Amino acid sequence: MIETPQYLSPSSAATFETCPAKWKYKYVDRRPDPSGKPALVGSFVHLVLEELCKLPAEARTLEQAKSIATSIWPVFETEEDYTALELNEEDVRAFKWQAWISTQGLWKLEDPKEVEVVSTEQKIVTKLGDVPFKGIVDRLERINNELVVSDYKSGRLPGVRWRADKITQVMLYAAAVKASQDETPSAARLLYLGQRILEVKVTAERIAEATDQLTETWDGVTTSCESESFDTKPGVLCGWCSFIDVCEDGQVEVKKRMKKKTLSAEAPAWQILKIKSQAA
Ligand code: SF4
Repeated sequence: MIETPQYLSPSSAATFETCPAKWKYKYVDRRPDPSGKPALVGSFVHLVLEELCKLPAEARTLEQAKSIATSIWPVFETEEDYTALELNEEDVRAFKWQAWISTQGLWKLEDPKEVEVVSTEQKIVTKLGDVPFKGIVDRLERINNELVVSDYKSGRLPGVRWRADKITQVMLYAAAVKASQDETPSAARLLYLGQRILEVKVTAERIAEATDQLTETWDGVTTSCESESFDTKPGVLCGWCSFIDVCEDGQVEVKKRMKKKTLSAEAPAWQILKIKSQAA
C-alpha cells in the first residue's frame, strides 16, 4: 500500500483530477517535473509582486517593482529549476522581458497603491470537510471593508470552458481562509496580469461545491494509494506532460494526435518522443 499524502493542495488536487497516473509520477515517485519556462516566469513574477505588496502603499510603483526584480534576480538565476532550463543569452533576455511584461500587467488591472493588503503569500494548513488541506494564498486584501482572496495568473486567460477549474481552485483558498480565520471572504479573484480580473462572489454553495469536489478527489487519491492503482487519463494535455517518456498510454495518445495533426506544434512531447525514437 502506498502511503496517502498528509495534505492535498489545490495544485496536487488539480493534477490528480487531470490524470491520476501523472499525480503518482509527481507526488509518489517524485520524478522531476520541470515546470518549464512559462511557469518559472510566473514564479519570478509572484516573487516580485509579493515583495511589492509588502511595501507601504505609496511605495508600490513600477520603478520599485523593477528594483525588486533586479535585487532578487541573482538568487533566482541560481535556483535548480531555472538553471535546468539551460537558457542562452538571448533566451535569458526573453525570459526577463516576459517577466517584466507580466509584472507591468498588474498596473493594467489596478493601481497597487490603492490595494489594502492584509497578507501576501500566506500559507494555510487546515481541514476542508474531512480533507487535510495546505495552500498558499497569493494575496488577501480588503475591498470596501470586505475580505477578498486574490490569485495572480501570469498565463493566458483560459477560454470560458476551461475556467471552472481555476475558479474552483481560488474558491478552495476562500474556503481555507474561512476555516482558518473565521471570516468568510466576500469574493475570490483571479488576476490575469495584463488581461483582466475574473471575480466570483464567495457563497456558502460555492464553498460547499469546491469542498465536495476536493473530498471526491481525496477519496480518489486514498483509494488509488490503497490499491496502488493509478489510472491514466490520456488527452490533449499528454503533449505537455513531463512524464510522457515513461507513460505508454500517453505516448499512444500523442502519436495518435501527431498522425491526425491535432497536436500543437508547441507541445514539448514532439521533441521528447523524437529524442526517444532516435535513442531506440
Ligand atoms: S502522459 Fe498523459 S496519460 Fe500519461 S501521465 Fe501524463 S497526462 Fe497522464
